[in-house]
Order: sequence, then structure tokens, then C-alpha cells
Amino acid sequence: MSHHVARWVFAFLALGLTACSAEDPESTLVGALNTARIASADKEPHNWLTHGRTYSEQRYSPLAQIKTDNVRKLGLAWTYELRTPRGASATPIVLDGVMYVTSSWSLVYALDAATGAQKWLYDPKVDRANGSKACCDVVNRGVAIYGNKVFVGVLDGRLVALDAKTGAVVWETVTVDQSLPYTITGAPRVANGLVYIGNGGAEYGVRGYVSAYEAETGKLRWRFYTVPGNPAGRRDGVASDNVMPKAAETWTGEWWKLGGGGTVWDAIVYDDEFDQLIIGVGNGSPWNQKIRSPKGGDNLFLSSVVALDAKTGVYKWHYQTTPGDTWDYTATQPIVLADLTIGGQQRKVAMQAPKNGFFYVLDRTTGELISARPLLPLYPTRSTPPGMPLSWASGVDPKTGRPIENPEARYRTATAVVRPSPLGAHNWHPMAFSPQTGLVYIPVQELALDWTNDPTFTLRPGRWNTGTVHAPLPDDPAVRAAIKKSSKGYLVAWDPVKAREAWRVEHKGPWNGGTLATAGGIVFEGTLDGRFVALDAHTGRELWSVVHPASTLAGPVTYSVNGEQYVAVLSGYGSVYVLVSSLLSPIQPARVNGRVHVYKIGGAATPPPVARDFSPISAPPETNASPQDIARGAALYVRFCLMCHGAAAGGGAVADLRRSAKLHDASAWRQAVVGGITTVGMPGFAGDLSDEEAEWIRAYVTRQAAALYAAQQAESRRGKDR
Ligand code: CA
Repeated sequence: MSHHVARWVFAFLALGLTACSAEDPESTLVGALNTARIASADKEPHNWLTHGRTYSEQRYSPLAQIKTDNVRKLGLAWTYELRTPRGASATPIVLDGVMYVTSSWSLVYALDAATGAQKWLYDPKVDRANGSKACCDVVNRGVAIYGNKVFVGVLDGRLVALDAKTGAVVWETVTVDQSLPYTITGAPRVANGLVYIGNGGAEYGVRGYVSAYEAETGKLRWRFYTVPGNPAGRRDGVASDNVMPKAAETWTGEWWKLGGGGTVWDAIVYDDEFDQLIIGVGNGSPWNQKIRSPKGGDNLFLSSVVALDAKTGVYKWHYQTTPGDTWDYTATQPIVLADLTIGGQQRKVAMQAPKNGFFYVLDRTTGELISARPLLPLYPTRSTPPGMPLSWASGVDPKTGRPIENPEARYRTATAVVRPSPLGAHNWHPMAFSPQTGLVYIPVQELALDWTNDPTFTLRPGRWNTGTVHAPLPDDPAVRAAIKKSSKGYLVAWDPVKAREAWRVEHKGPWNGGTLATAGGIVFEGTLDGRFVALDAHTGRELWSVVHPASTLAGPVTYSVNGEQYVAVLSGYGSVYVLVSSLLSPIQPARVNGRVHVYKIGGAATPPPVARDFSPISAPPETNASPQDIARGAALYVRFCLMCHGAAAGGGAVADLRRSAKLHDASAWRQAVVGGITTVGMPGFAGDLSDEEAEWIRAYVTRQAAALYAAQQAESRRGKDR
């Protein structure tokens, strides 16, 4: 069927819907959700039918009851307490008065969208041991709905279909080899009876892919691997087979033994105009290209935007944002589709701000680059004096579409401090595009990281396998303060036609929330320090704000019930930044359960109280460890412990080791590190860490505890003086 015919059919179905819904659009549309309905989402703006509201994933709502001149009257309609205290990243789906939302550990909740009353709750009962293979917290970014089913990707690799009315399991299927460190945190997408899902795990040693399952039965329809397996080995027998030999020509060495990477952990966009799936592909596994593909090469399709035939999974086109990725520069970030007039020409575009710091506008019929410009100021590409941060690239050549790289940033022979960091200039936090203003609203951040080649690298199955070494957080408070000061966060309003910034708002720190744009002329955004703000979409002027008990990072949505417009967003403690960097943050996020917050004009509900659990630290044990042992412990800590327990042994999403009773008991400590604590999902490191090494880590953590204790004593003395 040609595109024209397909579009005509959609238009016909949309007309039918309009005709039967002219009286009361909110009550007559109740029923199964299908592709035609999602493709015509503008006909039912009271709903939020799919991850980005429409298949184009613009996160722009035509609702305009809440607008610039009354938004200051927004008040709380209701809150709902999620059952878990870890990161809250989900975009709610709202269908005919019911909100479907997820929390960490892949729990699904169905709530009355007007009152917050719980209709059902589904807990997939994920074995907590899976937490140690989730690089970036045990989050979930939301569900998809199709027919009468709700689909959720579960952290342990399952795809589960639930009855939308009751939450009962209709079918479930395992989408990954569960003996490998795969995880799912992303939201599925659905079209024409197929559910699309990817996975994560490229920090641990896996090979990425996206799969299509039949919505009705859970049967696998097709799979597309994003990186080649062993070219001398058997074909995979899947949709990617015809393009993998070509991709393999861009690799060297024996990458397949290390996984290769390229996981599709977030952006999966269904383009209904061309019946294609546009996916964002992740970083290399291991990160370090010198180990993964020693003689270089582009390493397709790492860090690429790839278009596939939605029915068959067969390759259509690609654009690679970071050839030969060696910095964890994923191109998994949200992809937004739009029709723009550029240079007098109508262009059908796909837009993305991947981690690497550039904003890309691609022609989505061919993958051709239209523009690529930096979202942040570029830093020198030669580090003088050595050790100063530098940008990985000074621009993108518009003729070739390739980045103009700084060779020094590749850290092949010497340590380099590179911007952006692996947290990206932009990460998963959704961006919105307003056709009203023509602007894209992107949460952008400025962070750097030091990179050193790991000459001793060997693959450790199931462990952190990046092939890189990073310095422990410096103990010097002045250095920490300088890092904090240089870590910045902005909301950038980007003009994709002129390929330049329209305006920006600076936030208190990096790692801020996703955005929502509305026909009321407003942009909504949350922040790391828990603010939720409404800005004038034309100017960035702040019009309204509230403060939540925890970081507000997820994509906000808006919908209406019985003619009344609501705005909803989640808050929660956790997500990767808090895991690894909260000690560097200008803000200490609170460790509380996730919440759904819903606002309406004149809302007058009172938020429930918040219990905070940061207790004072007691005096740490004496230690006579040598400076060398402490330094060895620090290096091991960075490699084995940091991703869960946080930089410098505190502020992570799990136990704060500086407060651990085991710190006072060498044998209990050793037992926990080497043997693990299965009840809380702490893996044992027998085989990776000797008793002596566990003791060095204890020495390092003890020193961090002593520093915190000293700071606390000084603070309390200051308190007494006042
Ligand atoms: Ca990654």
C-alpha cells in the first residue's frame, strides 16, 4: 500500500471518529485503542495515548484551558504515592479518564485520572538481584496501550501484557537471554498489532537489538540487531541479517566476544507516514573503542539513528552521530518527528539531541543530515595546560555529515578530560516541540569526565565492563566545590529551522526534567531539586512553580476529564545522576517514595507530609591503613561499587556505606563484599575481589565516613555558636 493510500485510510477512520464523537468527545471514544486512533490523537486531545502523546512524539498538547494568563492559579488536584523509593522516570498514559503509570522495579498502576483513586496495581516481582545489572537505576519510563491491553517492559527482560481493566496478566514473554546482563527500562511502542521493545546493558557486555512482538499473542515477529556478531559465525536468522555484513566492515578485532553494545534502551518511534520505526542506538560495549575495535572504524550502528520497516524490521537508512564511539555517547535519546519548512522547502524531519552535545535535524525519508549544531559552547580542542576539559568535537561537517573530532579526546595514549560526560549534554529526559512557537525545549547540561585507557582490561561476565579508568572523586573540598560550580543545567529553547538557540534558562544544577509544551503557550519542566515550573513558551519567563519532595525528572503530561484540564508529573529519589554524582550536586535530593503530582486550575488539595531519613552519622572506626591501601581501595571502589553506592561511598540509591555498621567489623564487611547480601540484591564479588582488596575498600570507605563525620561535627559546632 502506498503512503498516499495509507494516509487516506487513516483520514477516513479519523473522519468516522470525529463524526461519532462530535457531541461529547470524552465519553463516546471509550473502547479499544488502535493505530488509527493514535495516528489521529489530535482528535482526542483530552487523552495522552502514547509515550510522546502522538506517534510524532512531539509532547505538545492542543489543550489550552491552562494558559499563560491563568497558569498562576494552578493548584494541586491530587497526589498518589508510588510503592517504591527509587527513581521515577515514567511518562503517564491517559486513556478515557484512567491514568496508567509505572514506578521503579517495573510496577504498573492504574489510577482514576480525576481523583487519583487506585484501580489496580501490578507488581512483576522482579528479583532484586537484577538491580546490580542496571547501570542507571531500576527505573521504568512507562507503558504502552493497544486494544484492551497495557504493555510493560520489565527490568529482568520480560515483556508483559496486562488486561487494561483489571491489571491481570494476559501474556508474558522473555525478550532477552536472562543469563546475560540485559535490562529493560524503556517504554514499549505499539502500532498495527506489533509491540516494539529494546533493552539496555551496554556497560556490562551485551549486543543490542530491538524486537517486535504480536500484541495479541506475545509471539516474536521480528528482531533487528544493531551491531554485528562474529562475521565468520552463523547468521542470526533475523531481520538485520542482510545489513550486518556491511556493518561488520566498519569493525576490527573480536568485538563480538565483548558484546559490542548498541542497545536500544529508549527512543523507538513509529513513523506512521512511512510505516517505519526510527530507533536510537546506544554506546559501544565496552565503552573504550581501543579495546572493542582496536584498529578503529565507525562501528555501525553504534550511536546512530536507524530507520527500519515497521512490519518486517528490514533496514531502511541510518545516520551515525558519533562514529567509533568511545565516550558512551548514545543516540538513544528521544526522537521527535515534525514537518518543517527549511530554506523554503517542506522537509519531513526527525530531530534528536543525543548525549554528544549536538542537535541534529535529519530528513526522515533518507536519513540525510539537514543540520547539526552544538547546544553548549565548545571548549578548546587542545588541552592547554594538560588536564583541562576539552570538547570531543569542534563541529559537524555539513558536507560529509561527520564530526570534526579532537584526536586528543580519544584517550588512546593519555588521560583526557572530555565534555560532554557519559551522562550526556542531554539524556533520556524527554524534549518537547511546539508547532505554535516552532521551538524544541531541551533539558541540557554541562558536565565533564576524565578518561583513561584500562591496560589491564579483561571481560568479567556480568560486571561493569567499560575498559576505562576514572579517577575517584577528589577529597579536596576546594576541588569538589570547583567541580560543582562547573556542573550546570539549562532549559534550552532551540529553533530547528534556523538551527540556533532562541533562549535558555539556567537551573540550579544539571540533570533536570523532561518537558511538555501546550497550546496554552506554556512549557512545563521539573528540576533535580524538585521544582516543577511553567514557563512562557515564547520567552522562557517563569509563570508558576511548586516544589516537590524529590527530583522531578520525568516527562510531564496534560489531559482533561469532564472538560477540566490537568497537568501531571512524577517525582522520585534516584536515577543515574543521583547514583553516581549526588555528592557533586548543588542539591541533596531527598530519599523518599516516588509520587504522582496532578494539578488543575483552582486545585486546593494538601500534599501529604514527607518523611526524610537522613540520620546523623556516628563516629567511624579508627584505621591504620596506609595511604597506598586507601588509594587502591578507592580505585576498586570506582570500578566495583560506585555505580550503585554513589561517588565517594555515599549518596547513591542504595545503602550509604559511610553509615554501614559493617564498617566497624572487618569480617562482616568481607562477608558482605565477597559473599553478597542476596535479600537486598547486593551481589557477591567472590572471584573479582580478594579478602585483602575488600579490606582496602573498607579503608577507603572509612576515610570517606571520617570526612562526613568531621563535616557534621563542624556543622553542629557552627550551630551551637549561632
Ligand atoms: Ca550507556
